[in-house]
Amino acid sequence: MTEKAQRIIVVTGGSRGIGRAICQRLAAAESRIYFNYFAGDRAAEEAAAAETIEIVAKAGGQAKGLWANVAVAAEVTAFFDAIMDEVGRVDVLVNNAGITRDALLARMKEADWDAVLSVDLKGPFLCSQVATRIMAKQHGGRIINISSIVGAMGNIGQANYVAAKAGLIGLTKTTAREYASRNVTVNAVAPGFIDTAMTAVLPEKVKTAMLASIPLGRMGSPEDVAEAVAFLASDAAAYITGQVLHVNGGMYM
Ligand code: NAP
Repeated sequence: MTEKAQRIIVVTGGSRGIGRAICQRLAAAESRIYFNYFAGDRAAEEAAAAETIEIVAKAGGQAKGLWANVAVAAEVTAFFDAIMDEVGRVDVLVNNAGITRDALLARMKEADWDAVLSVDLKGPFLCSQVATRIMAKQHGGRIINISSIVGAMGNIGQANYVAAKAGLIGLTKTTAREYASRNVTVNAVAPGFIDTAMTAVLPEKVKTAMLASIPLGRMGSPEDVAEAVAFLASDAAAYITGQVLHVNGGMYM
């Protein structure tokens, strides 16, 4: 069993990008971080997960990465069961794992709609369902859902992703209302245009146009997003629930 003082933090999709920065930012001597990851190339992802563990250790924390697909109920249950067996509680859940499968609405394949909705919306639903059961018994917890600026604005070529991220805002508000009496706060962070693998694949023309629409004149970093998550996970945010915190350099206001 863990020391009572340890804060147990669960981050989905922590092997790289924003999730890794969140793990790094939330690392502290009194925290223990569990993250999951899931992709086609298991060896590469395990190497990436090992890197996250090392980064967290350098930041003074402890992390463990587990292979689990957030879109599959049995894998989510097994992921949380493993955590509960080890440490017996979950204080913070960050629903960060996400994918894109972009195409114009007219050309979007049903499989791409289903894949994005499964990971980006059903994943947070499954994880929140398990985590709220645990947090309700503890009479306390924090859930932070990583939505997106496009969930508020819409975006050409991302009907699936936008529907999922807008849906996640609805899930955030409903979970916040349902669990407020159990002292569980639920908020969303909506990043704008952030420098990760997800945006690296965008054509140069699209990147240039996006940059031109950001008043602060730069892409965001994963660390910019991690700071907002750290605030919502902190004691300073105890009276904030059901909110969406936009981190976008002024791209949407
Ligand atoms: P990323 O670099 O592509 O990382 C995505 C993470 O999610 C990876 O750790 C990945 O694991 C994990 N993942 C993907 N599918 C999964 C599944 N089925 N089960 C468990 N884990 C899974 O993306 P990112 O840019 O850091 O994005 C993180 C979050 O921020 C996403 O929800 C994204 O929608 C959101 N966001 C990003 C931006 C942006 O500009 N980058 C803007 C707004 C919102 P593997 O490494 O194993 O694939």
